[in-house]
Amino acid sequence: MNGMVLSAMPMGEYDKRLTILTVERGKINAFAKGARKPNSSLLACSQPFSYGEFTAYAGRDSYTVTNAVISNYFPELREDLERLYLGMYFCEFADYFTREGNDEREVLGLLYQSLRALGSGKFPAALVRRVYELKLVSIEGEAPQVSHCVHCGKRDGGGLSYFSLEKDGILCDSCARGLTRNASGQRAEAEKISGGGMSGGSKPLSASKPLSAACLYAMQYVVGTPSTKLYRFSLKDEVLAELGEIVGRYIKKHVGREMKTLQVLETMGFS
Ligand SMILES: [Zn+2]
Repeated sequence: MNGMVLSAMPMGEYDKRLTILTVERGKINAFAKGARKPNSSLLACSQPFSYGEFTAYAGRDSYTVTNAVISNYFPELREDLERLYLGMYFCEFADYFTREGNDEREVLGLLYQSLRALGSGKFPAALVRRVYELKLVSIEGEAPQVSHCVHCGKRDGGGLSYFSLEKDGILCDSCARGLTRNASGQRAEAEKISGGGMSGGSKPLSASKPLSAACLYAMQYVVGTPSTKLYRFSLKDEVLAELGEIVGRYIKKHVGREMKTLQVLETMGFS
């Protein structure tokens, strides 16, 4: 089986339990017996990011790895703590979405390209992170609508300059204005009834944020481009910050779990 180790947990005295994202069987669990002995032939393959060909036999509810030929370990990720933990976060994020028996080749391809981009040092870590997150939810069928206004369907270039987190996509200027006017009208009504203040319980209809043309283009590019060609652009700092905020909030809304590795990154002050 060809694949990448997503995680490696110590088991017993000498063994490891691996989660491997494979081309042939989707995500599998596999034991690497004796992998923690210093002279084990499985030592090198039993670490996160190890990518190559694994020979394994199927047991009752897990595989047992007998041999592995590793073609890439992504050693450059281990030279930088932020990139190392981001890489582990990428693995945890992929683990969350994938299952045994599914065709997970697209996720595996994305993960591989993203770890390469992360290790290359050619891109800011924050850019690789947001591209990876947005592309992965897109592969899983949860992409935001970035080709036309989610409200009226307007498509043409220009005039699509808001992103609505509530509606999971872009809004044209007139729809954003209409919705905003509507929302503030409602709030005014509520304030009249409740005697002022914000205590009327009314919420703006649309939490839409202004969206720059560069950020919209970046999102369209990521959603619509195959993983092998994803990492071919750069963004100005302010556009990257904008992309980070939108994708970050979108992911929080759509992904039901806080990733452990992300908490570690935050504790270390990296995000
Ligand atoms: Zn519209």
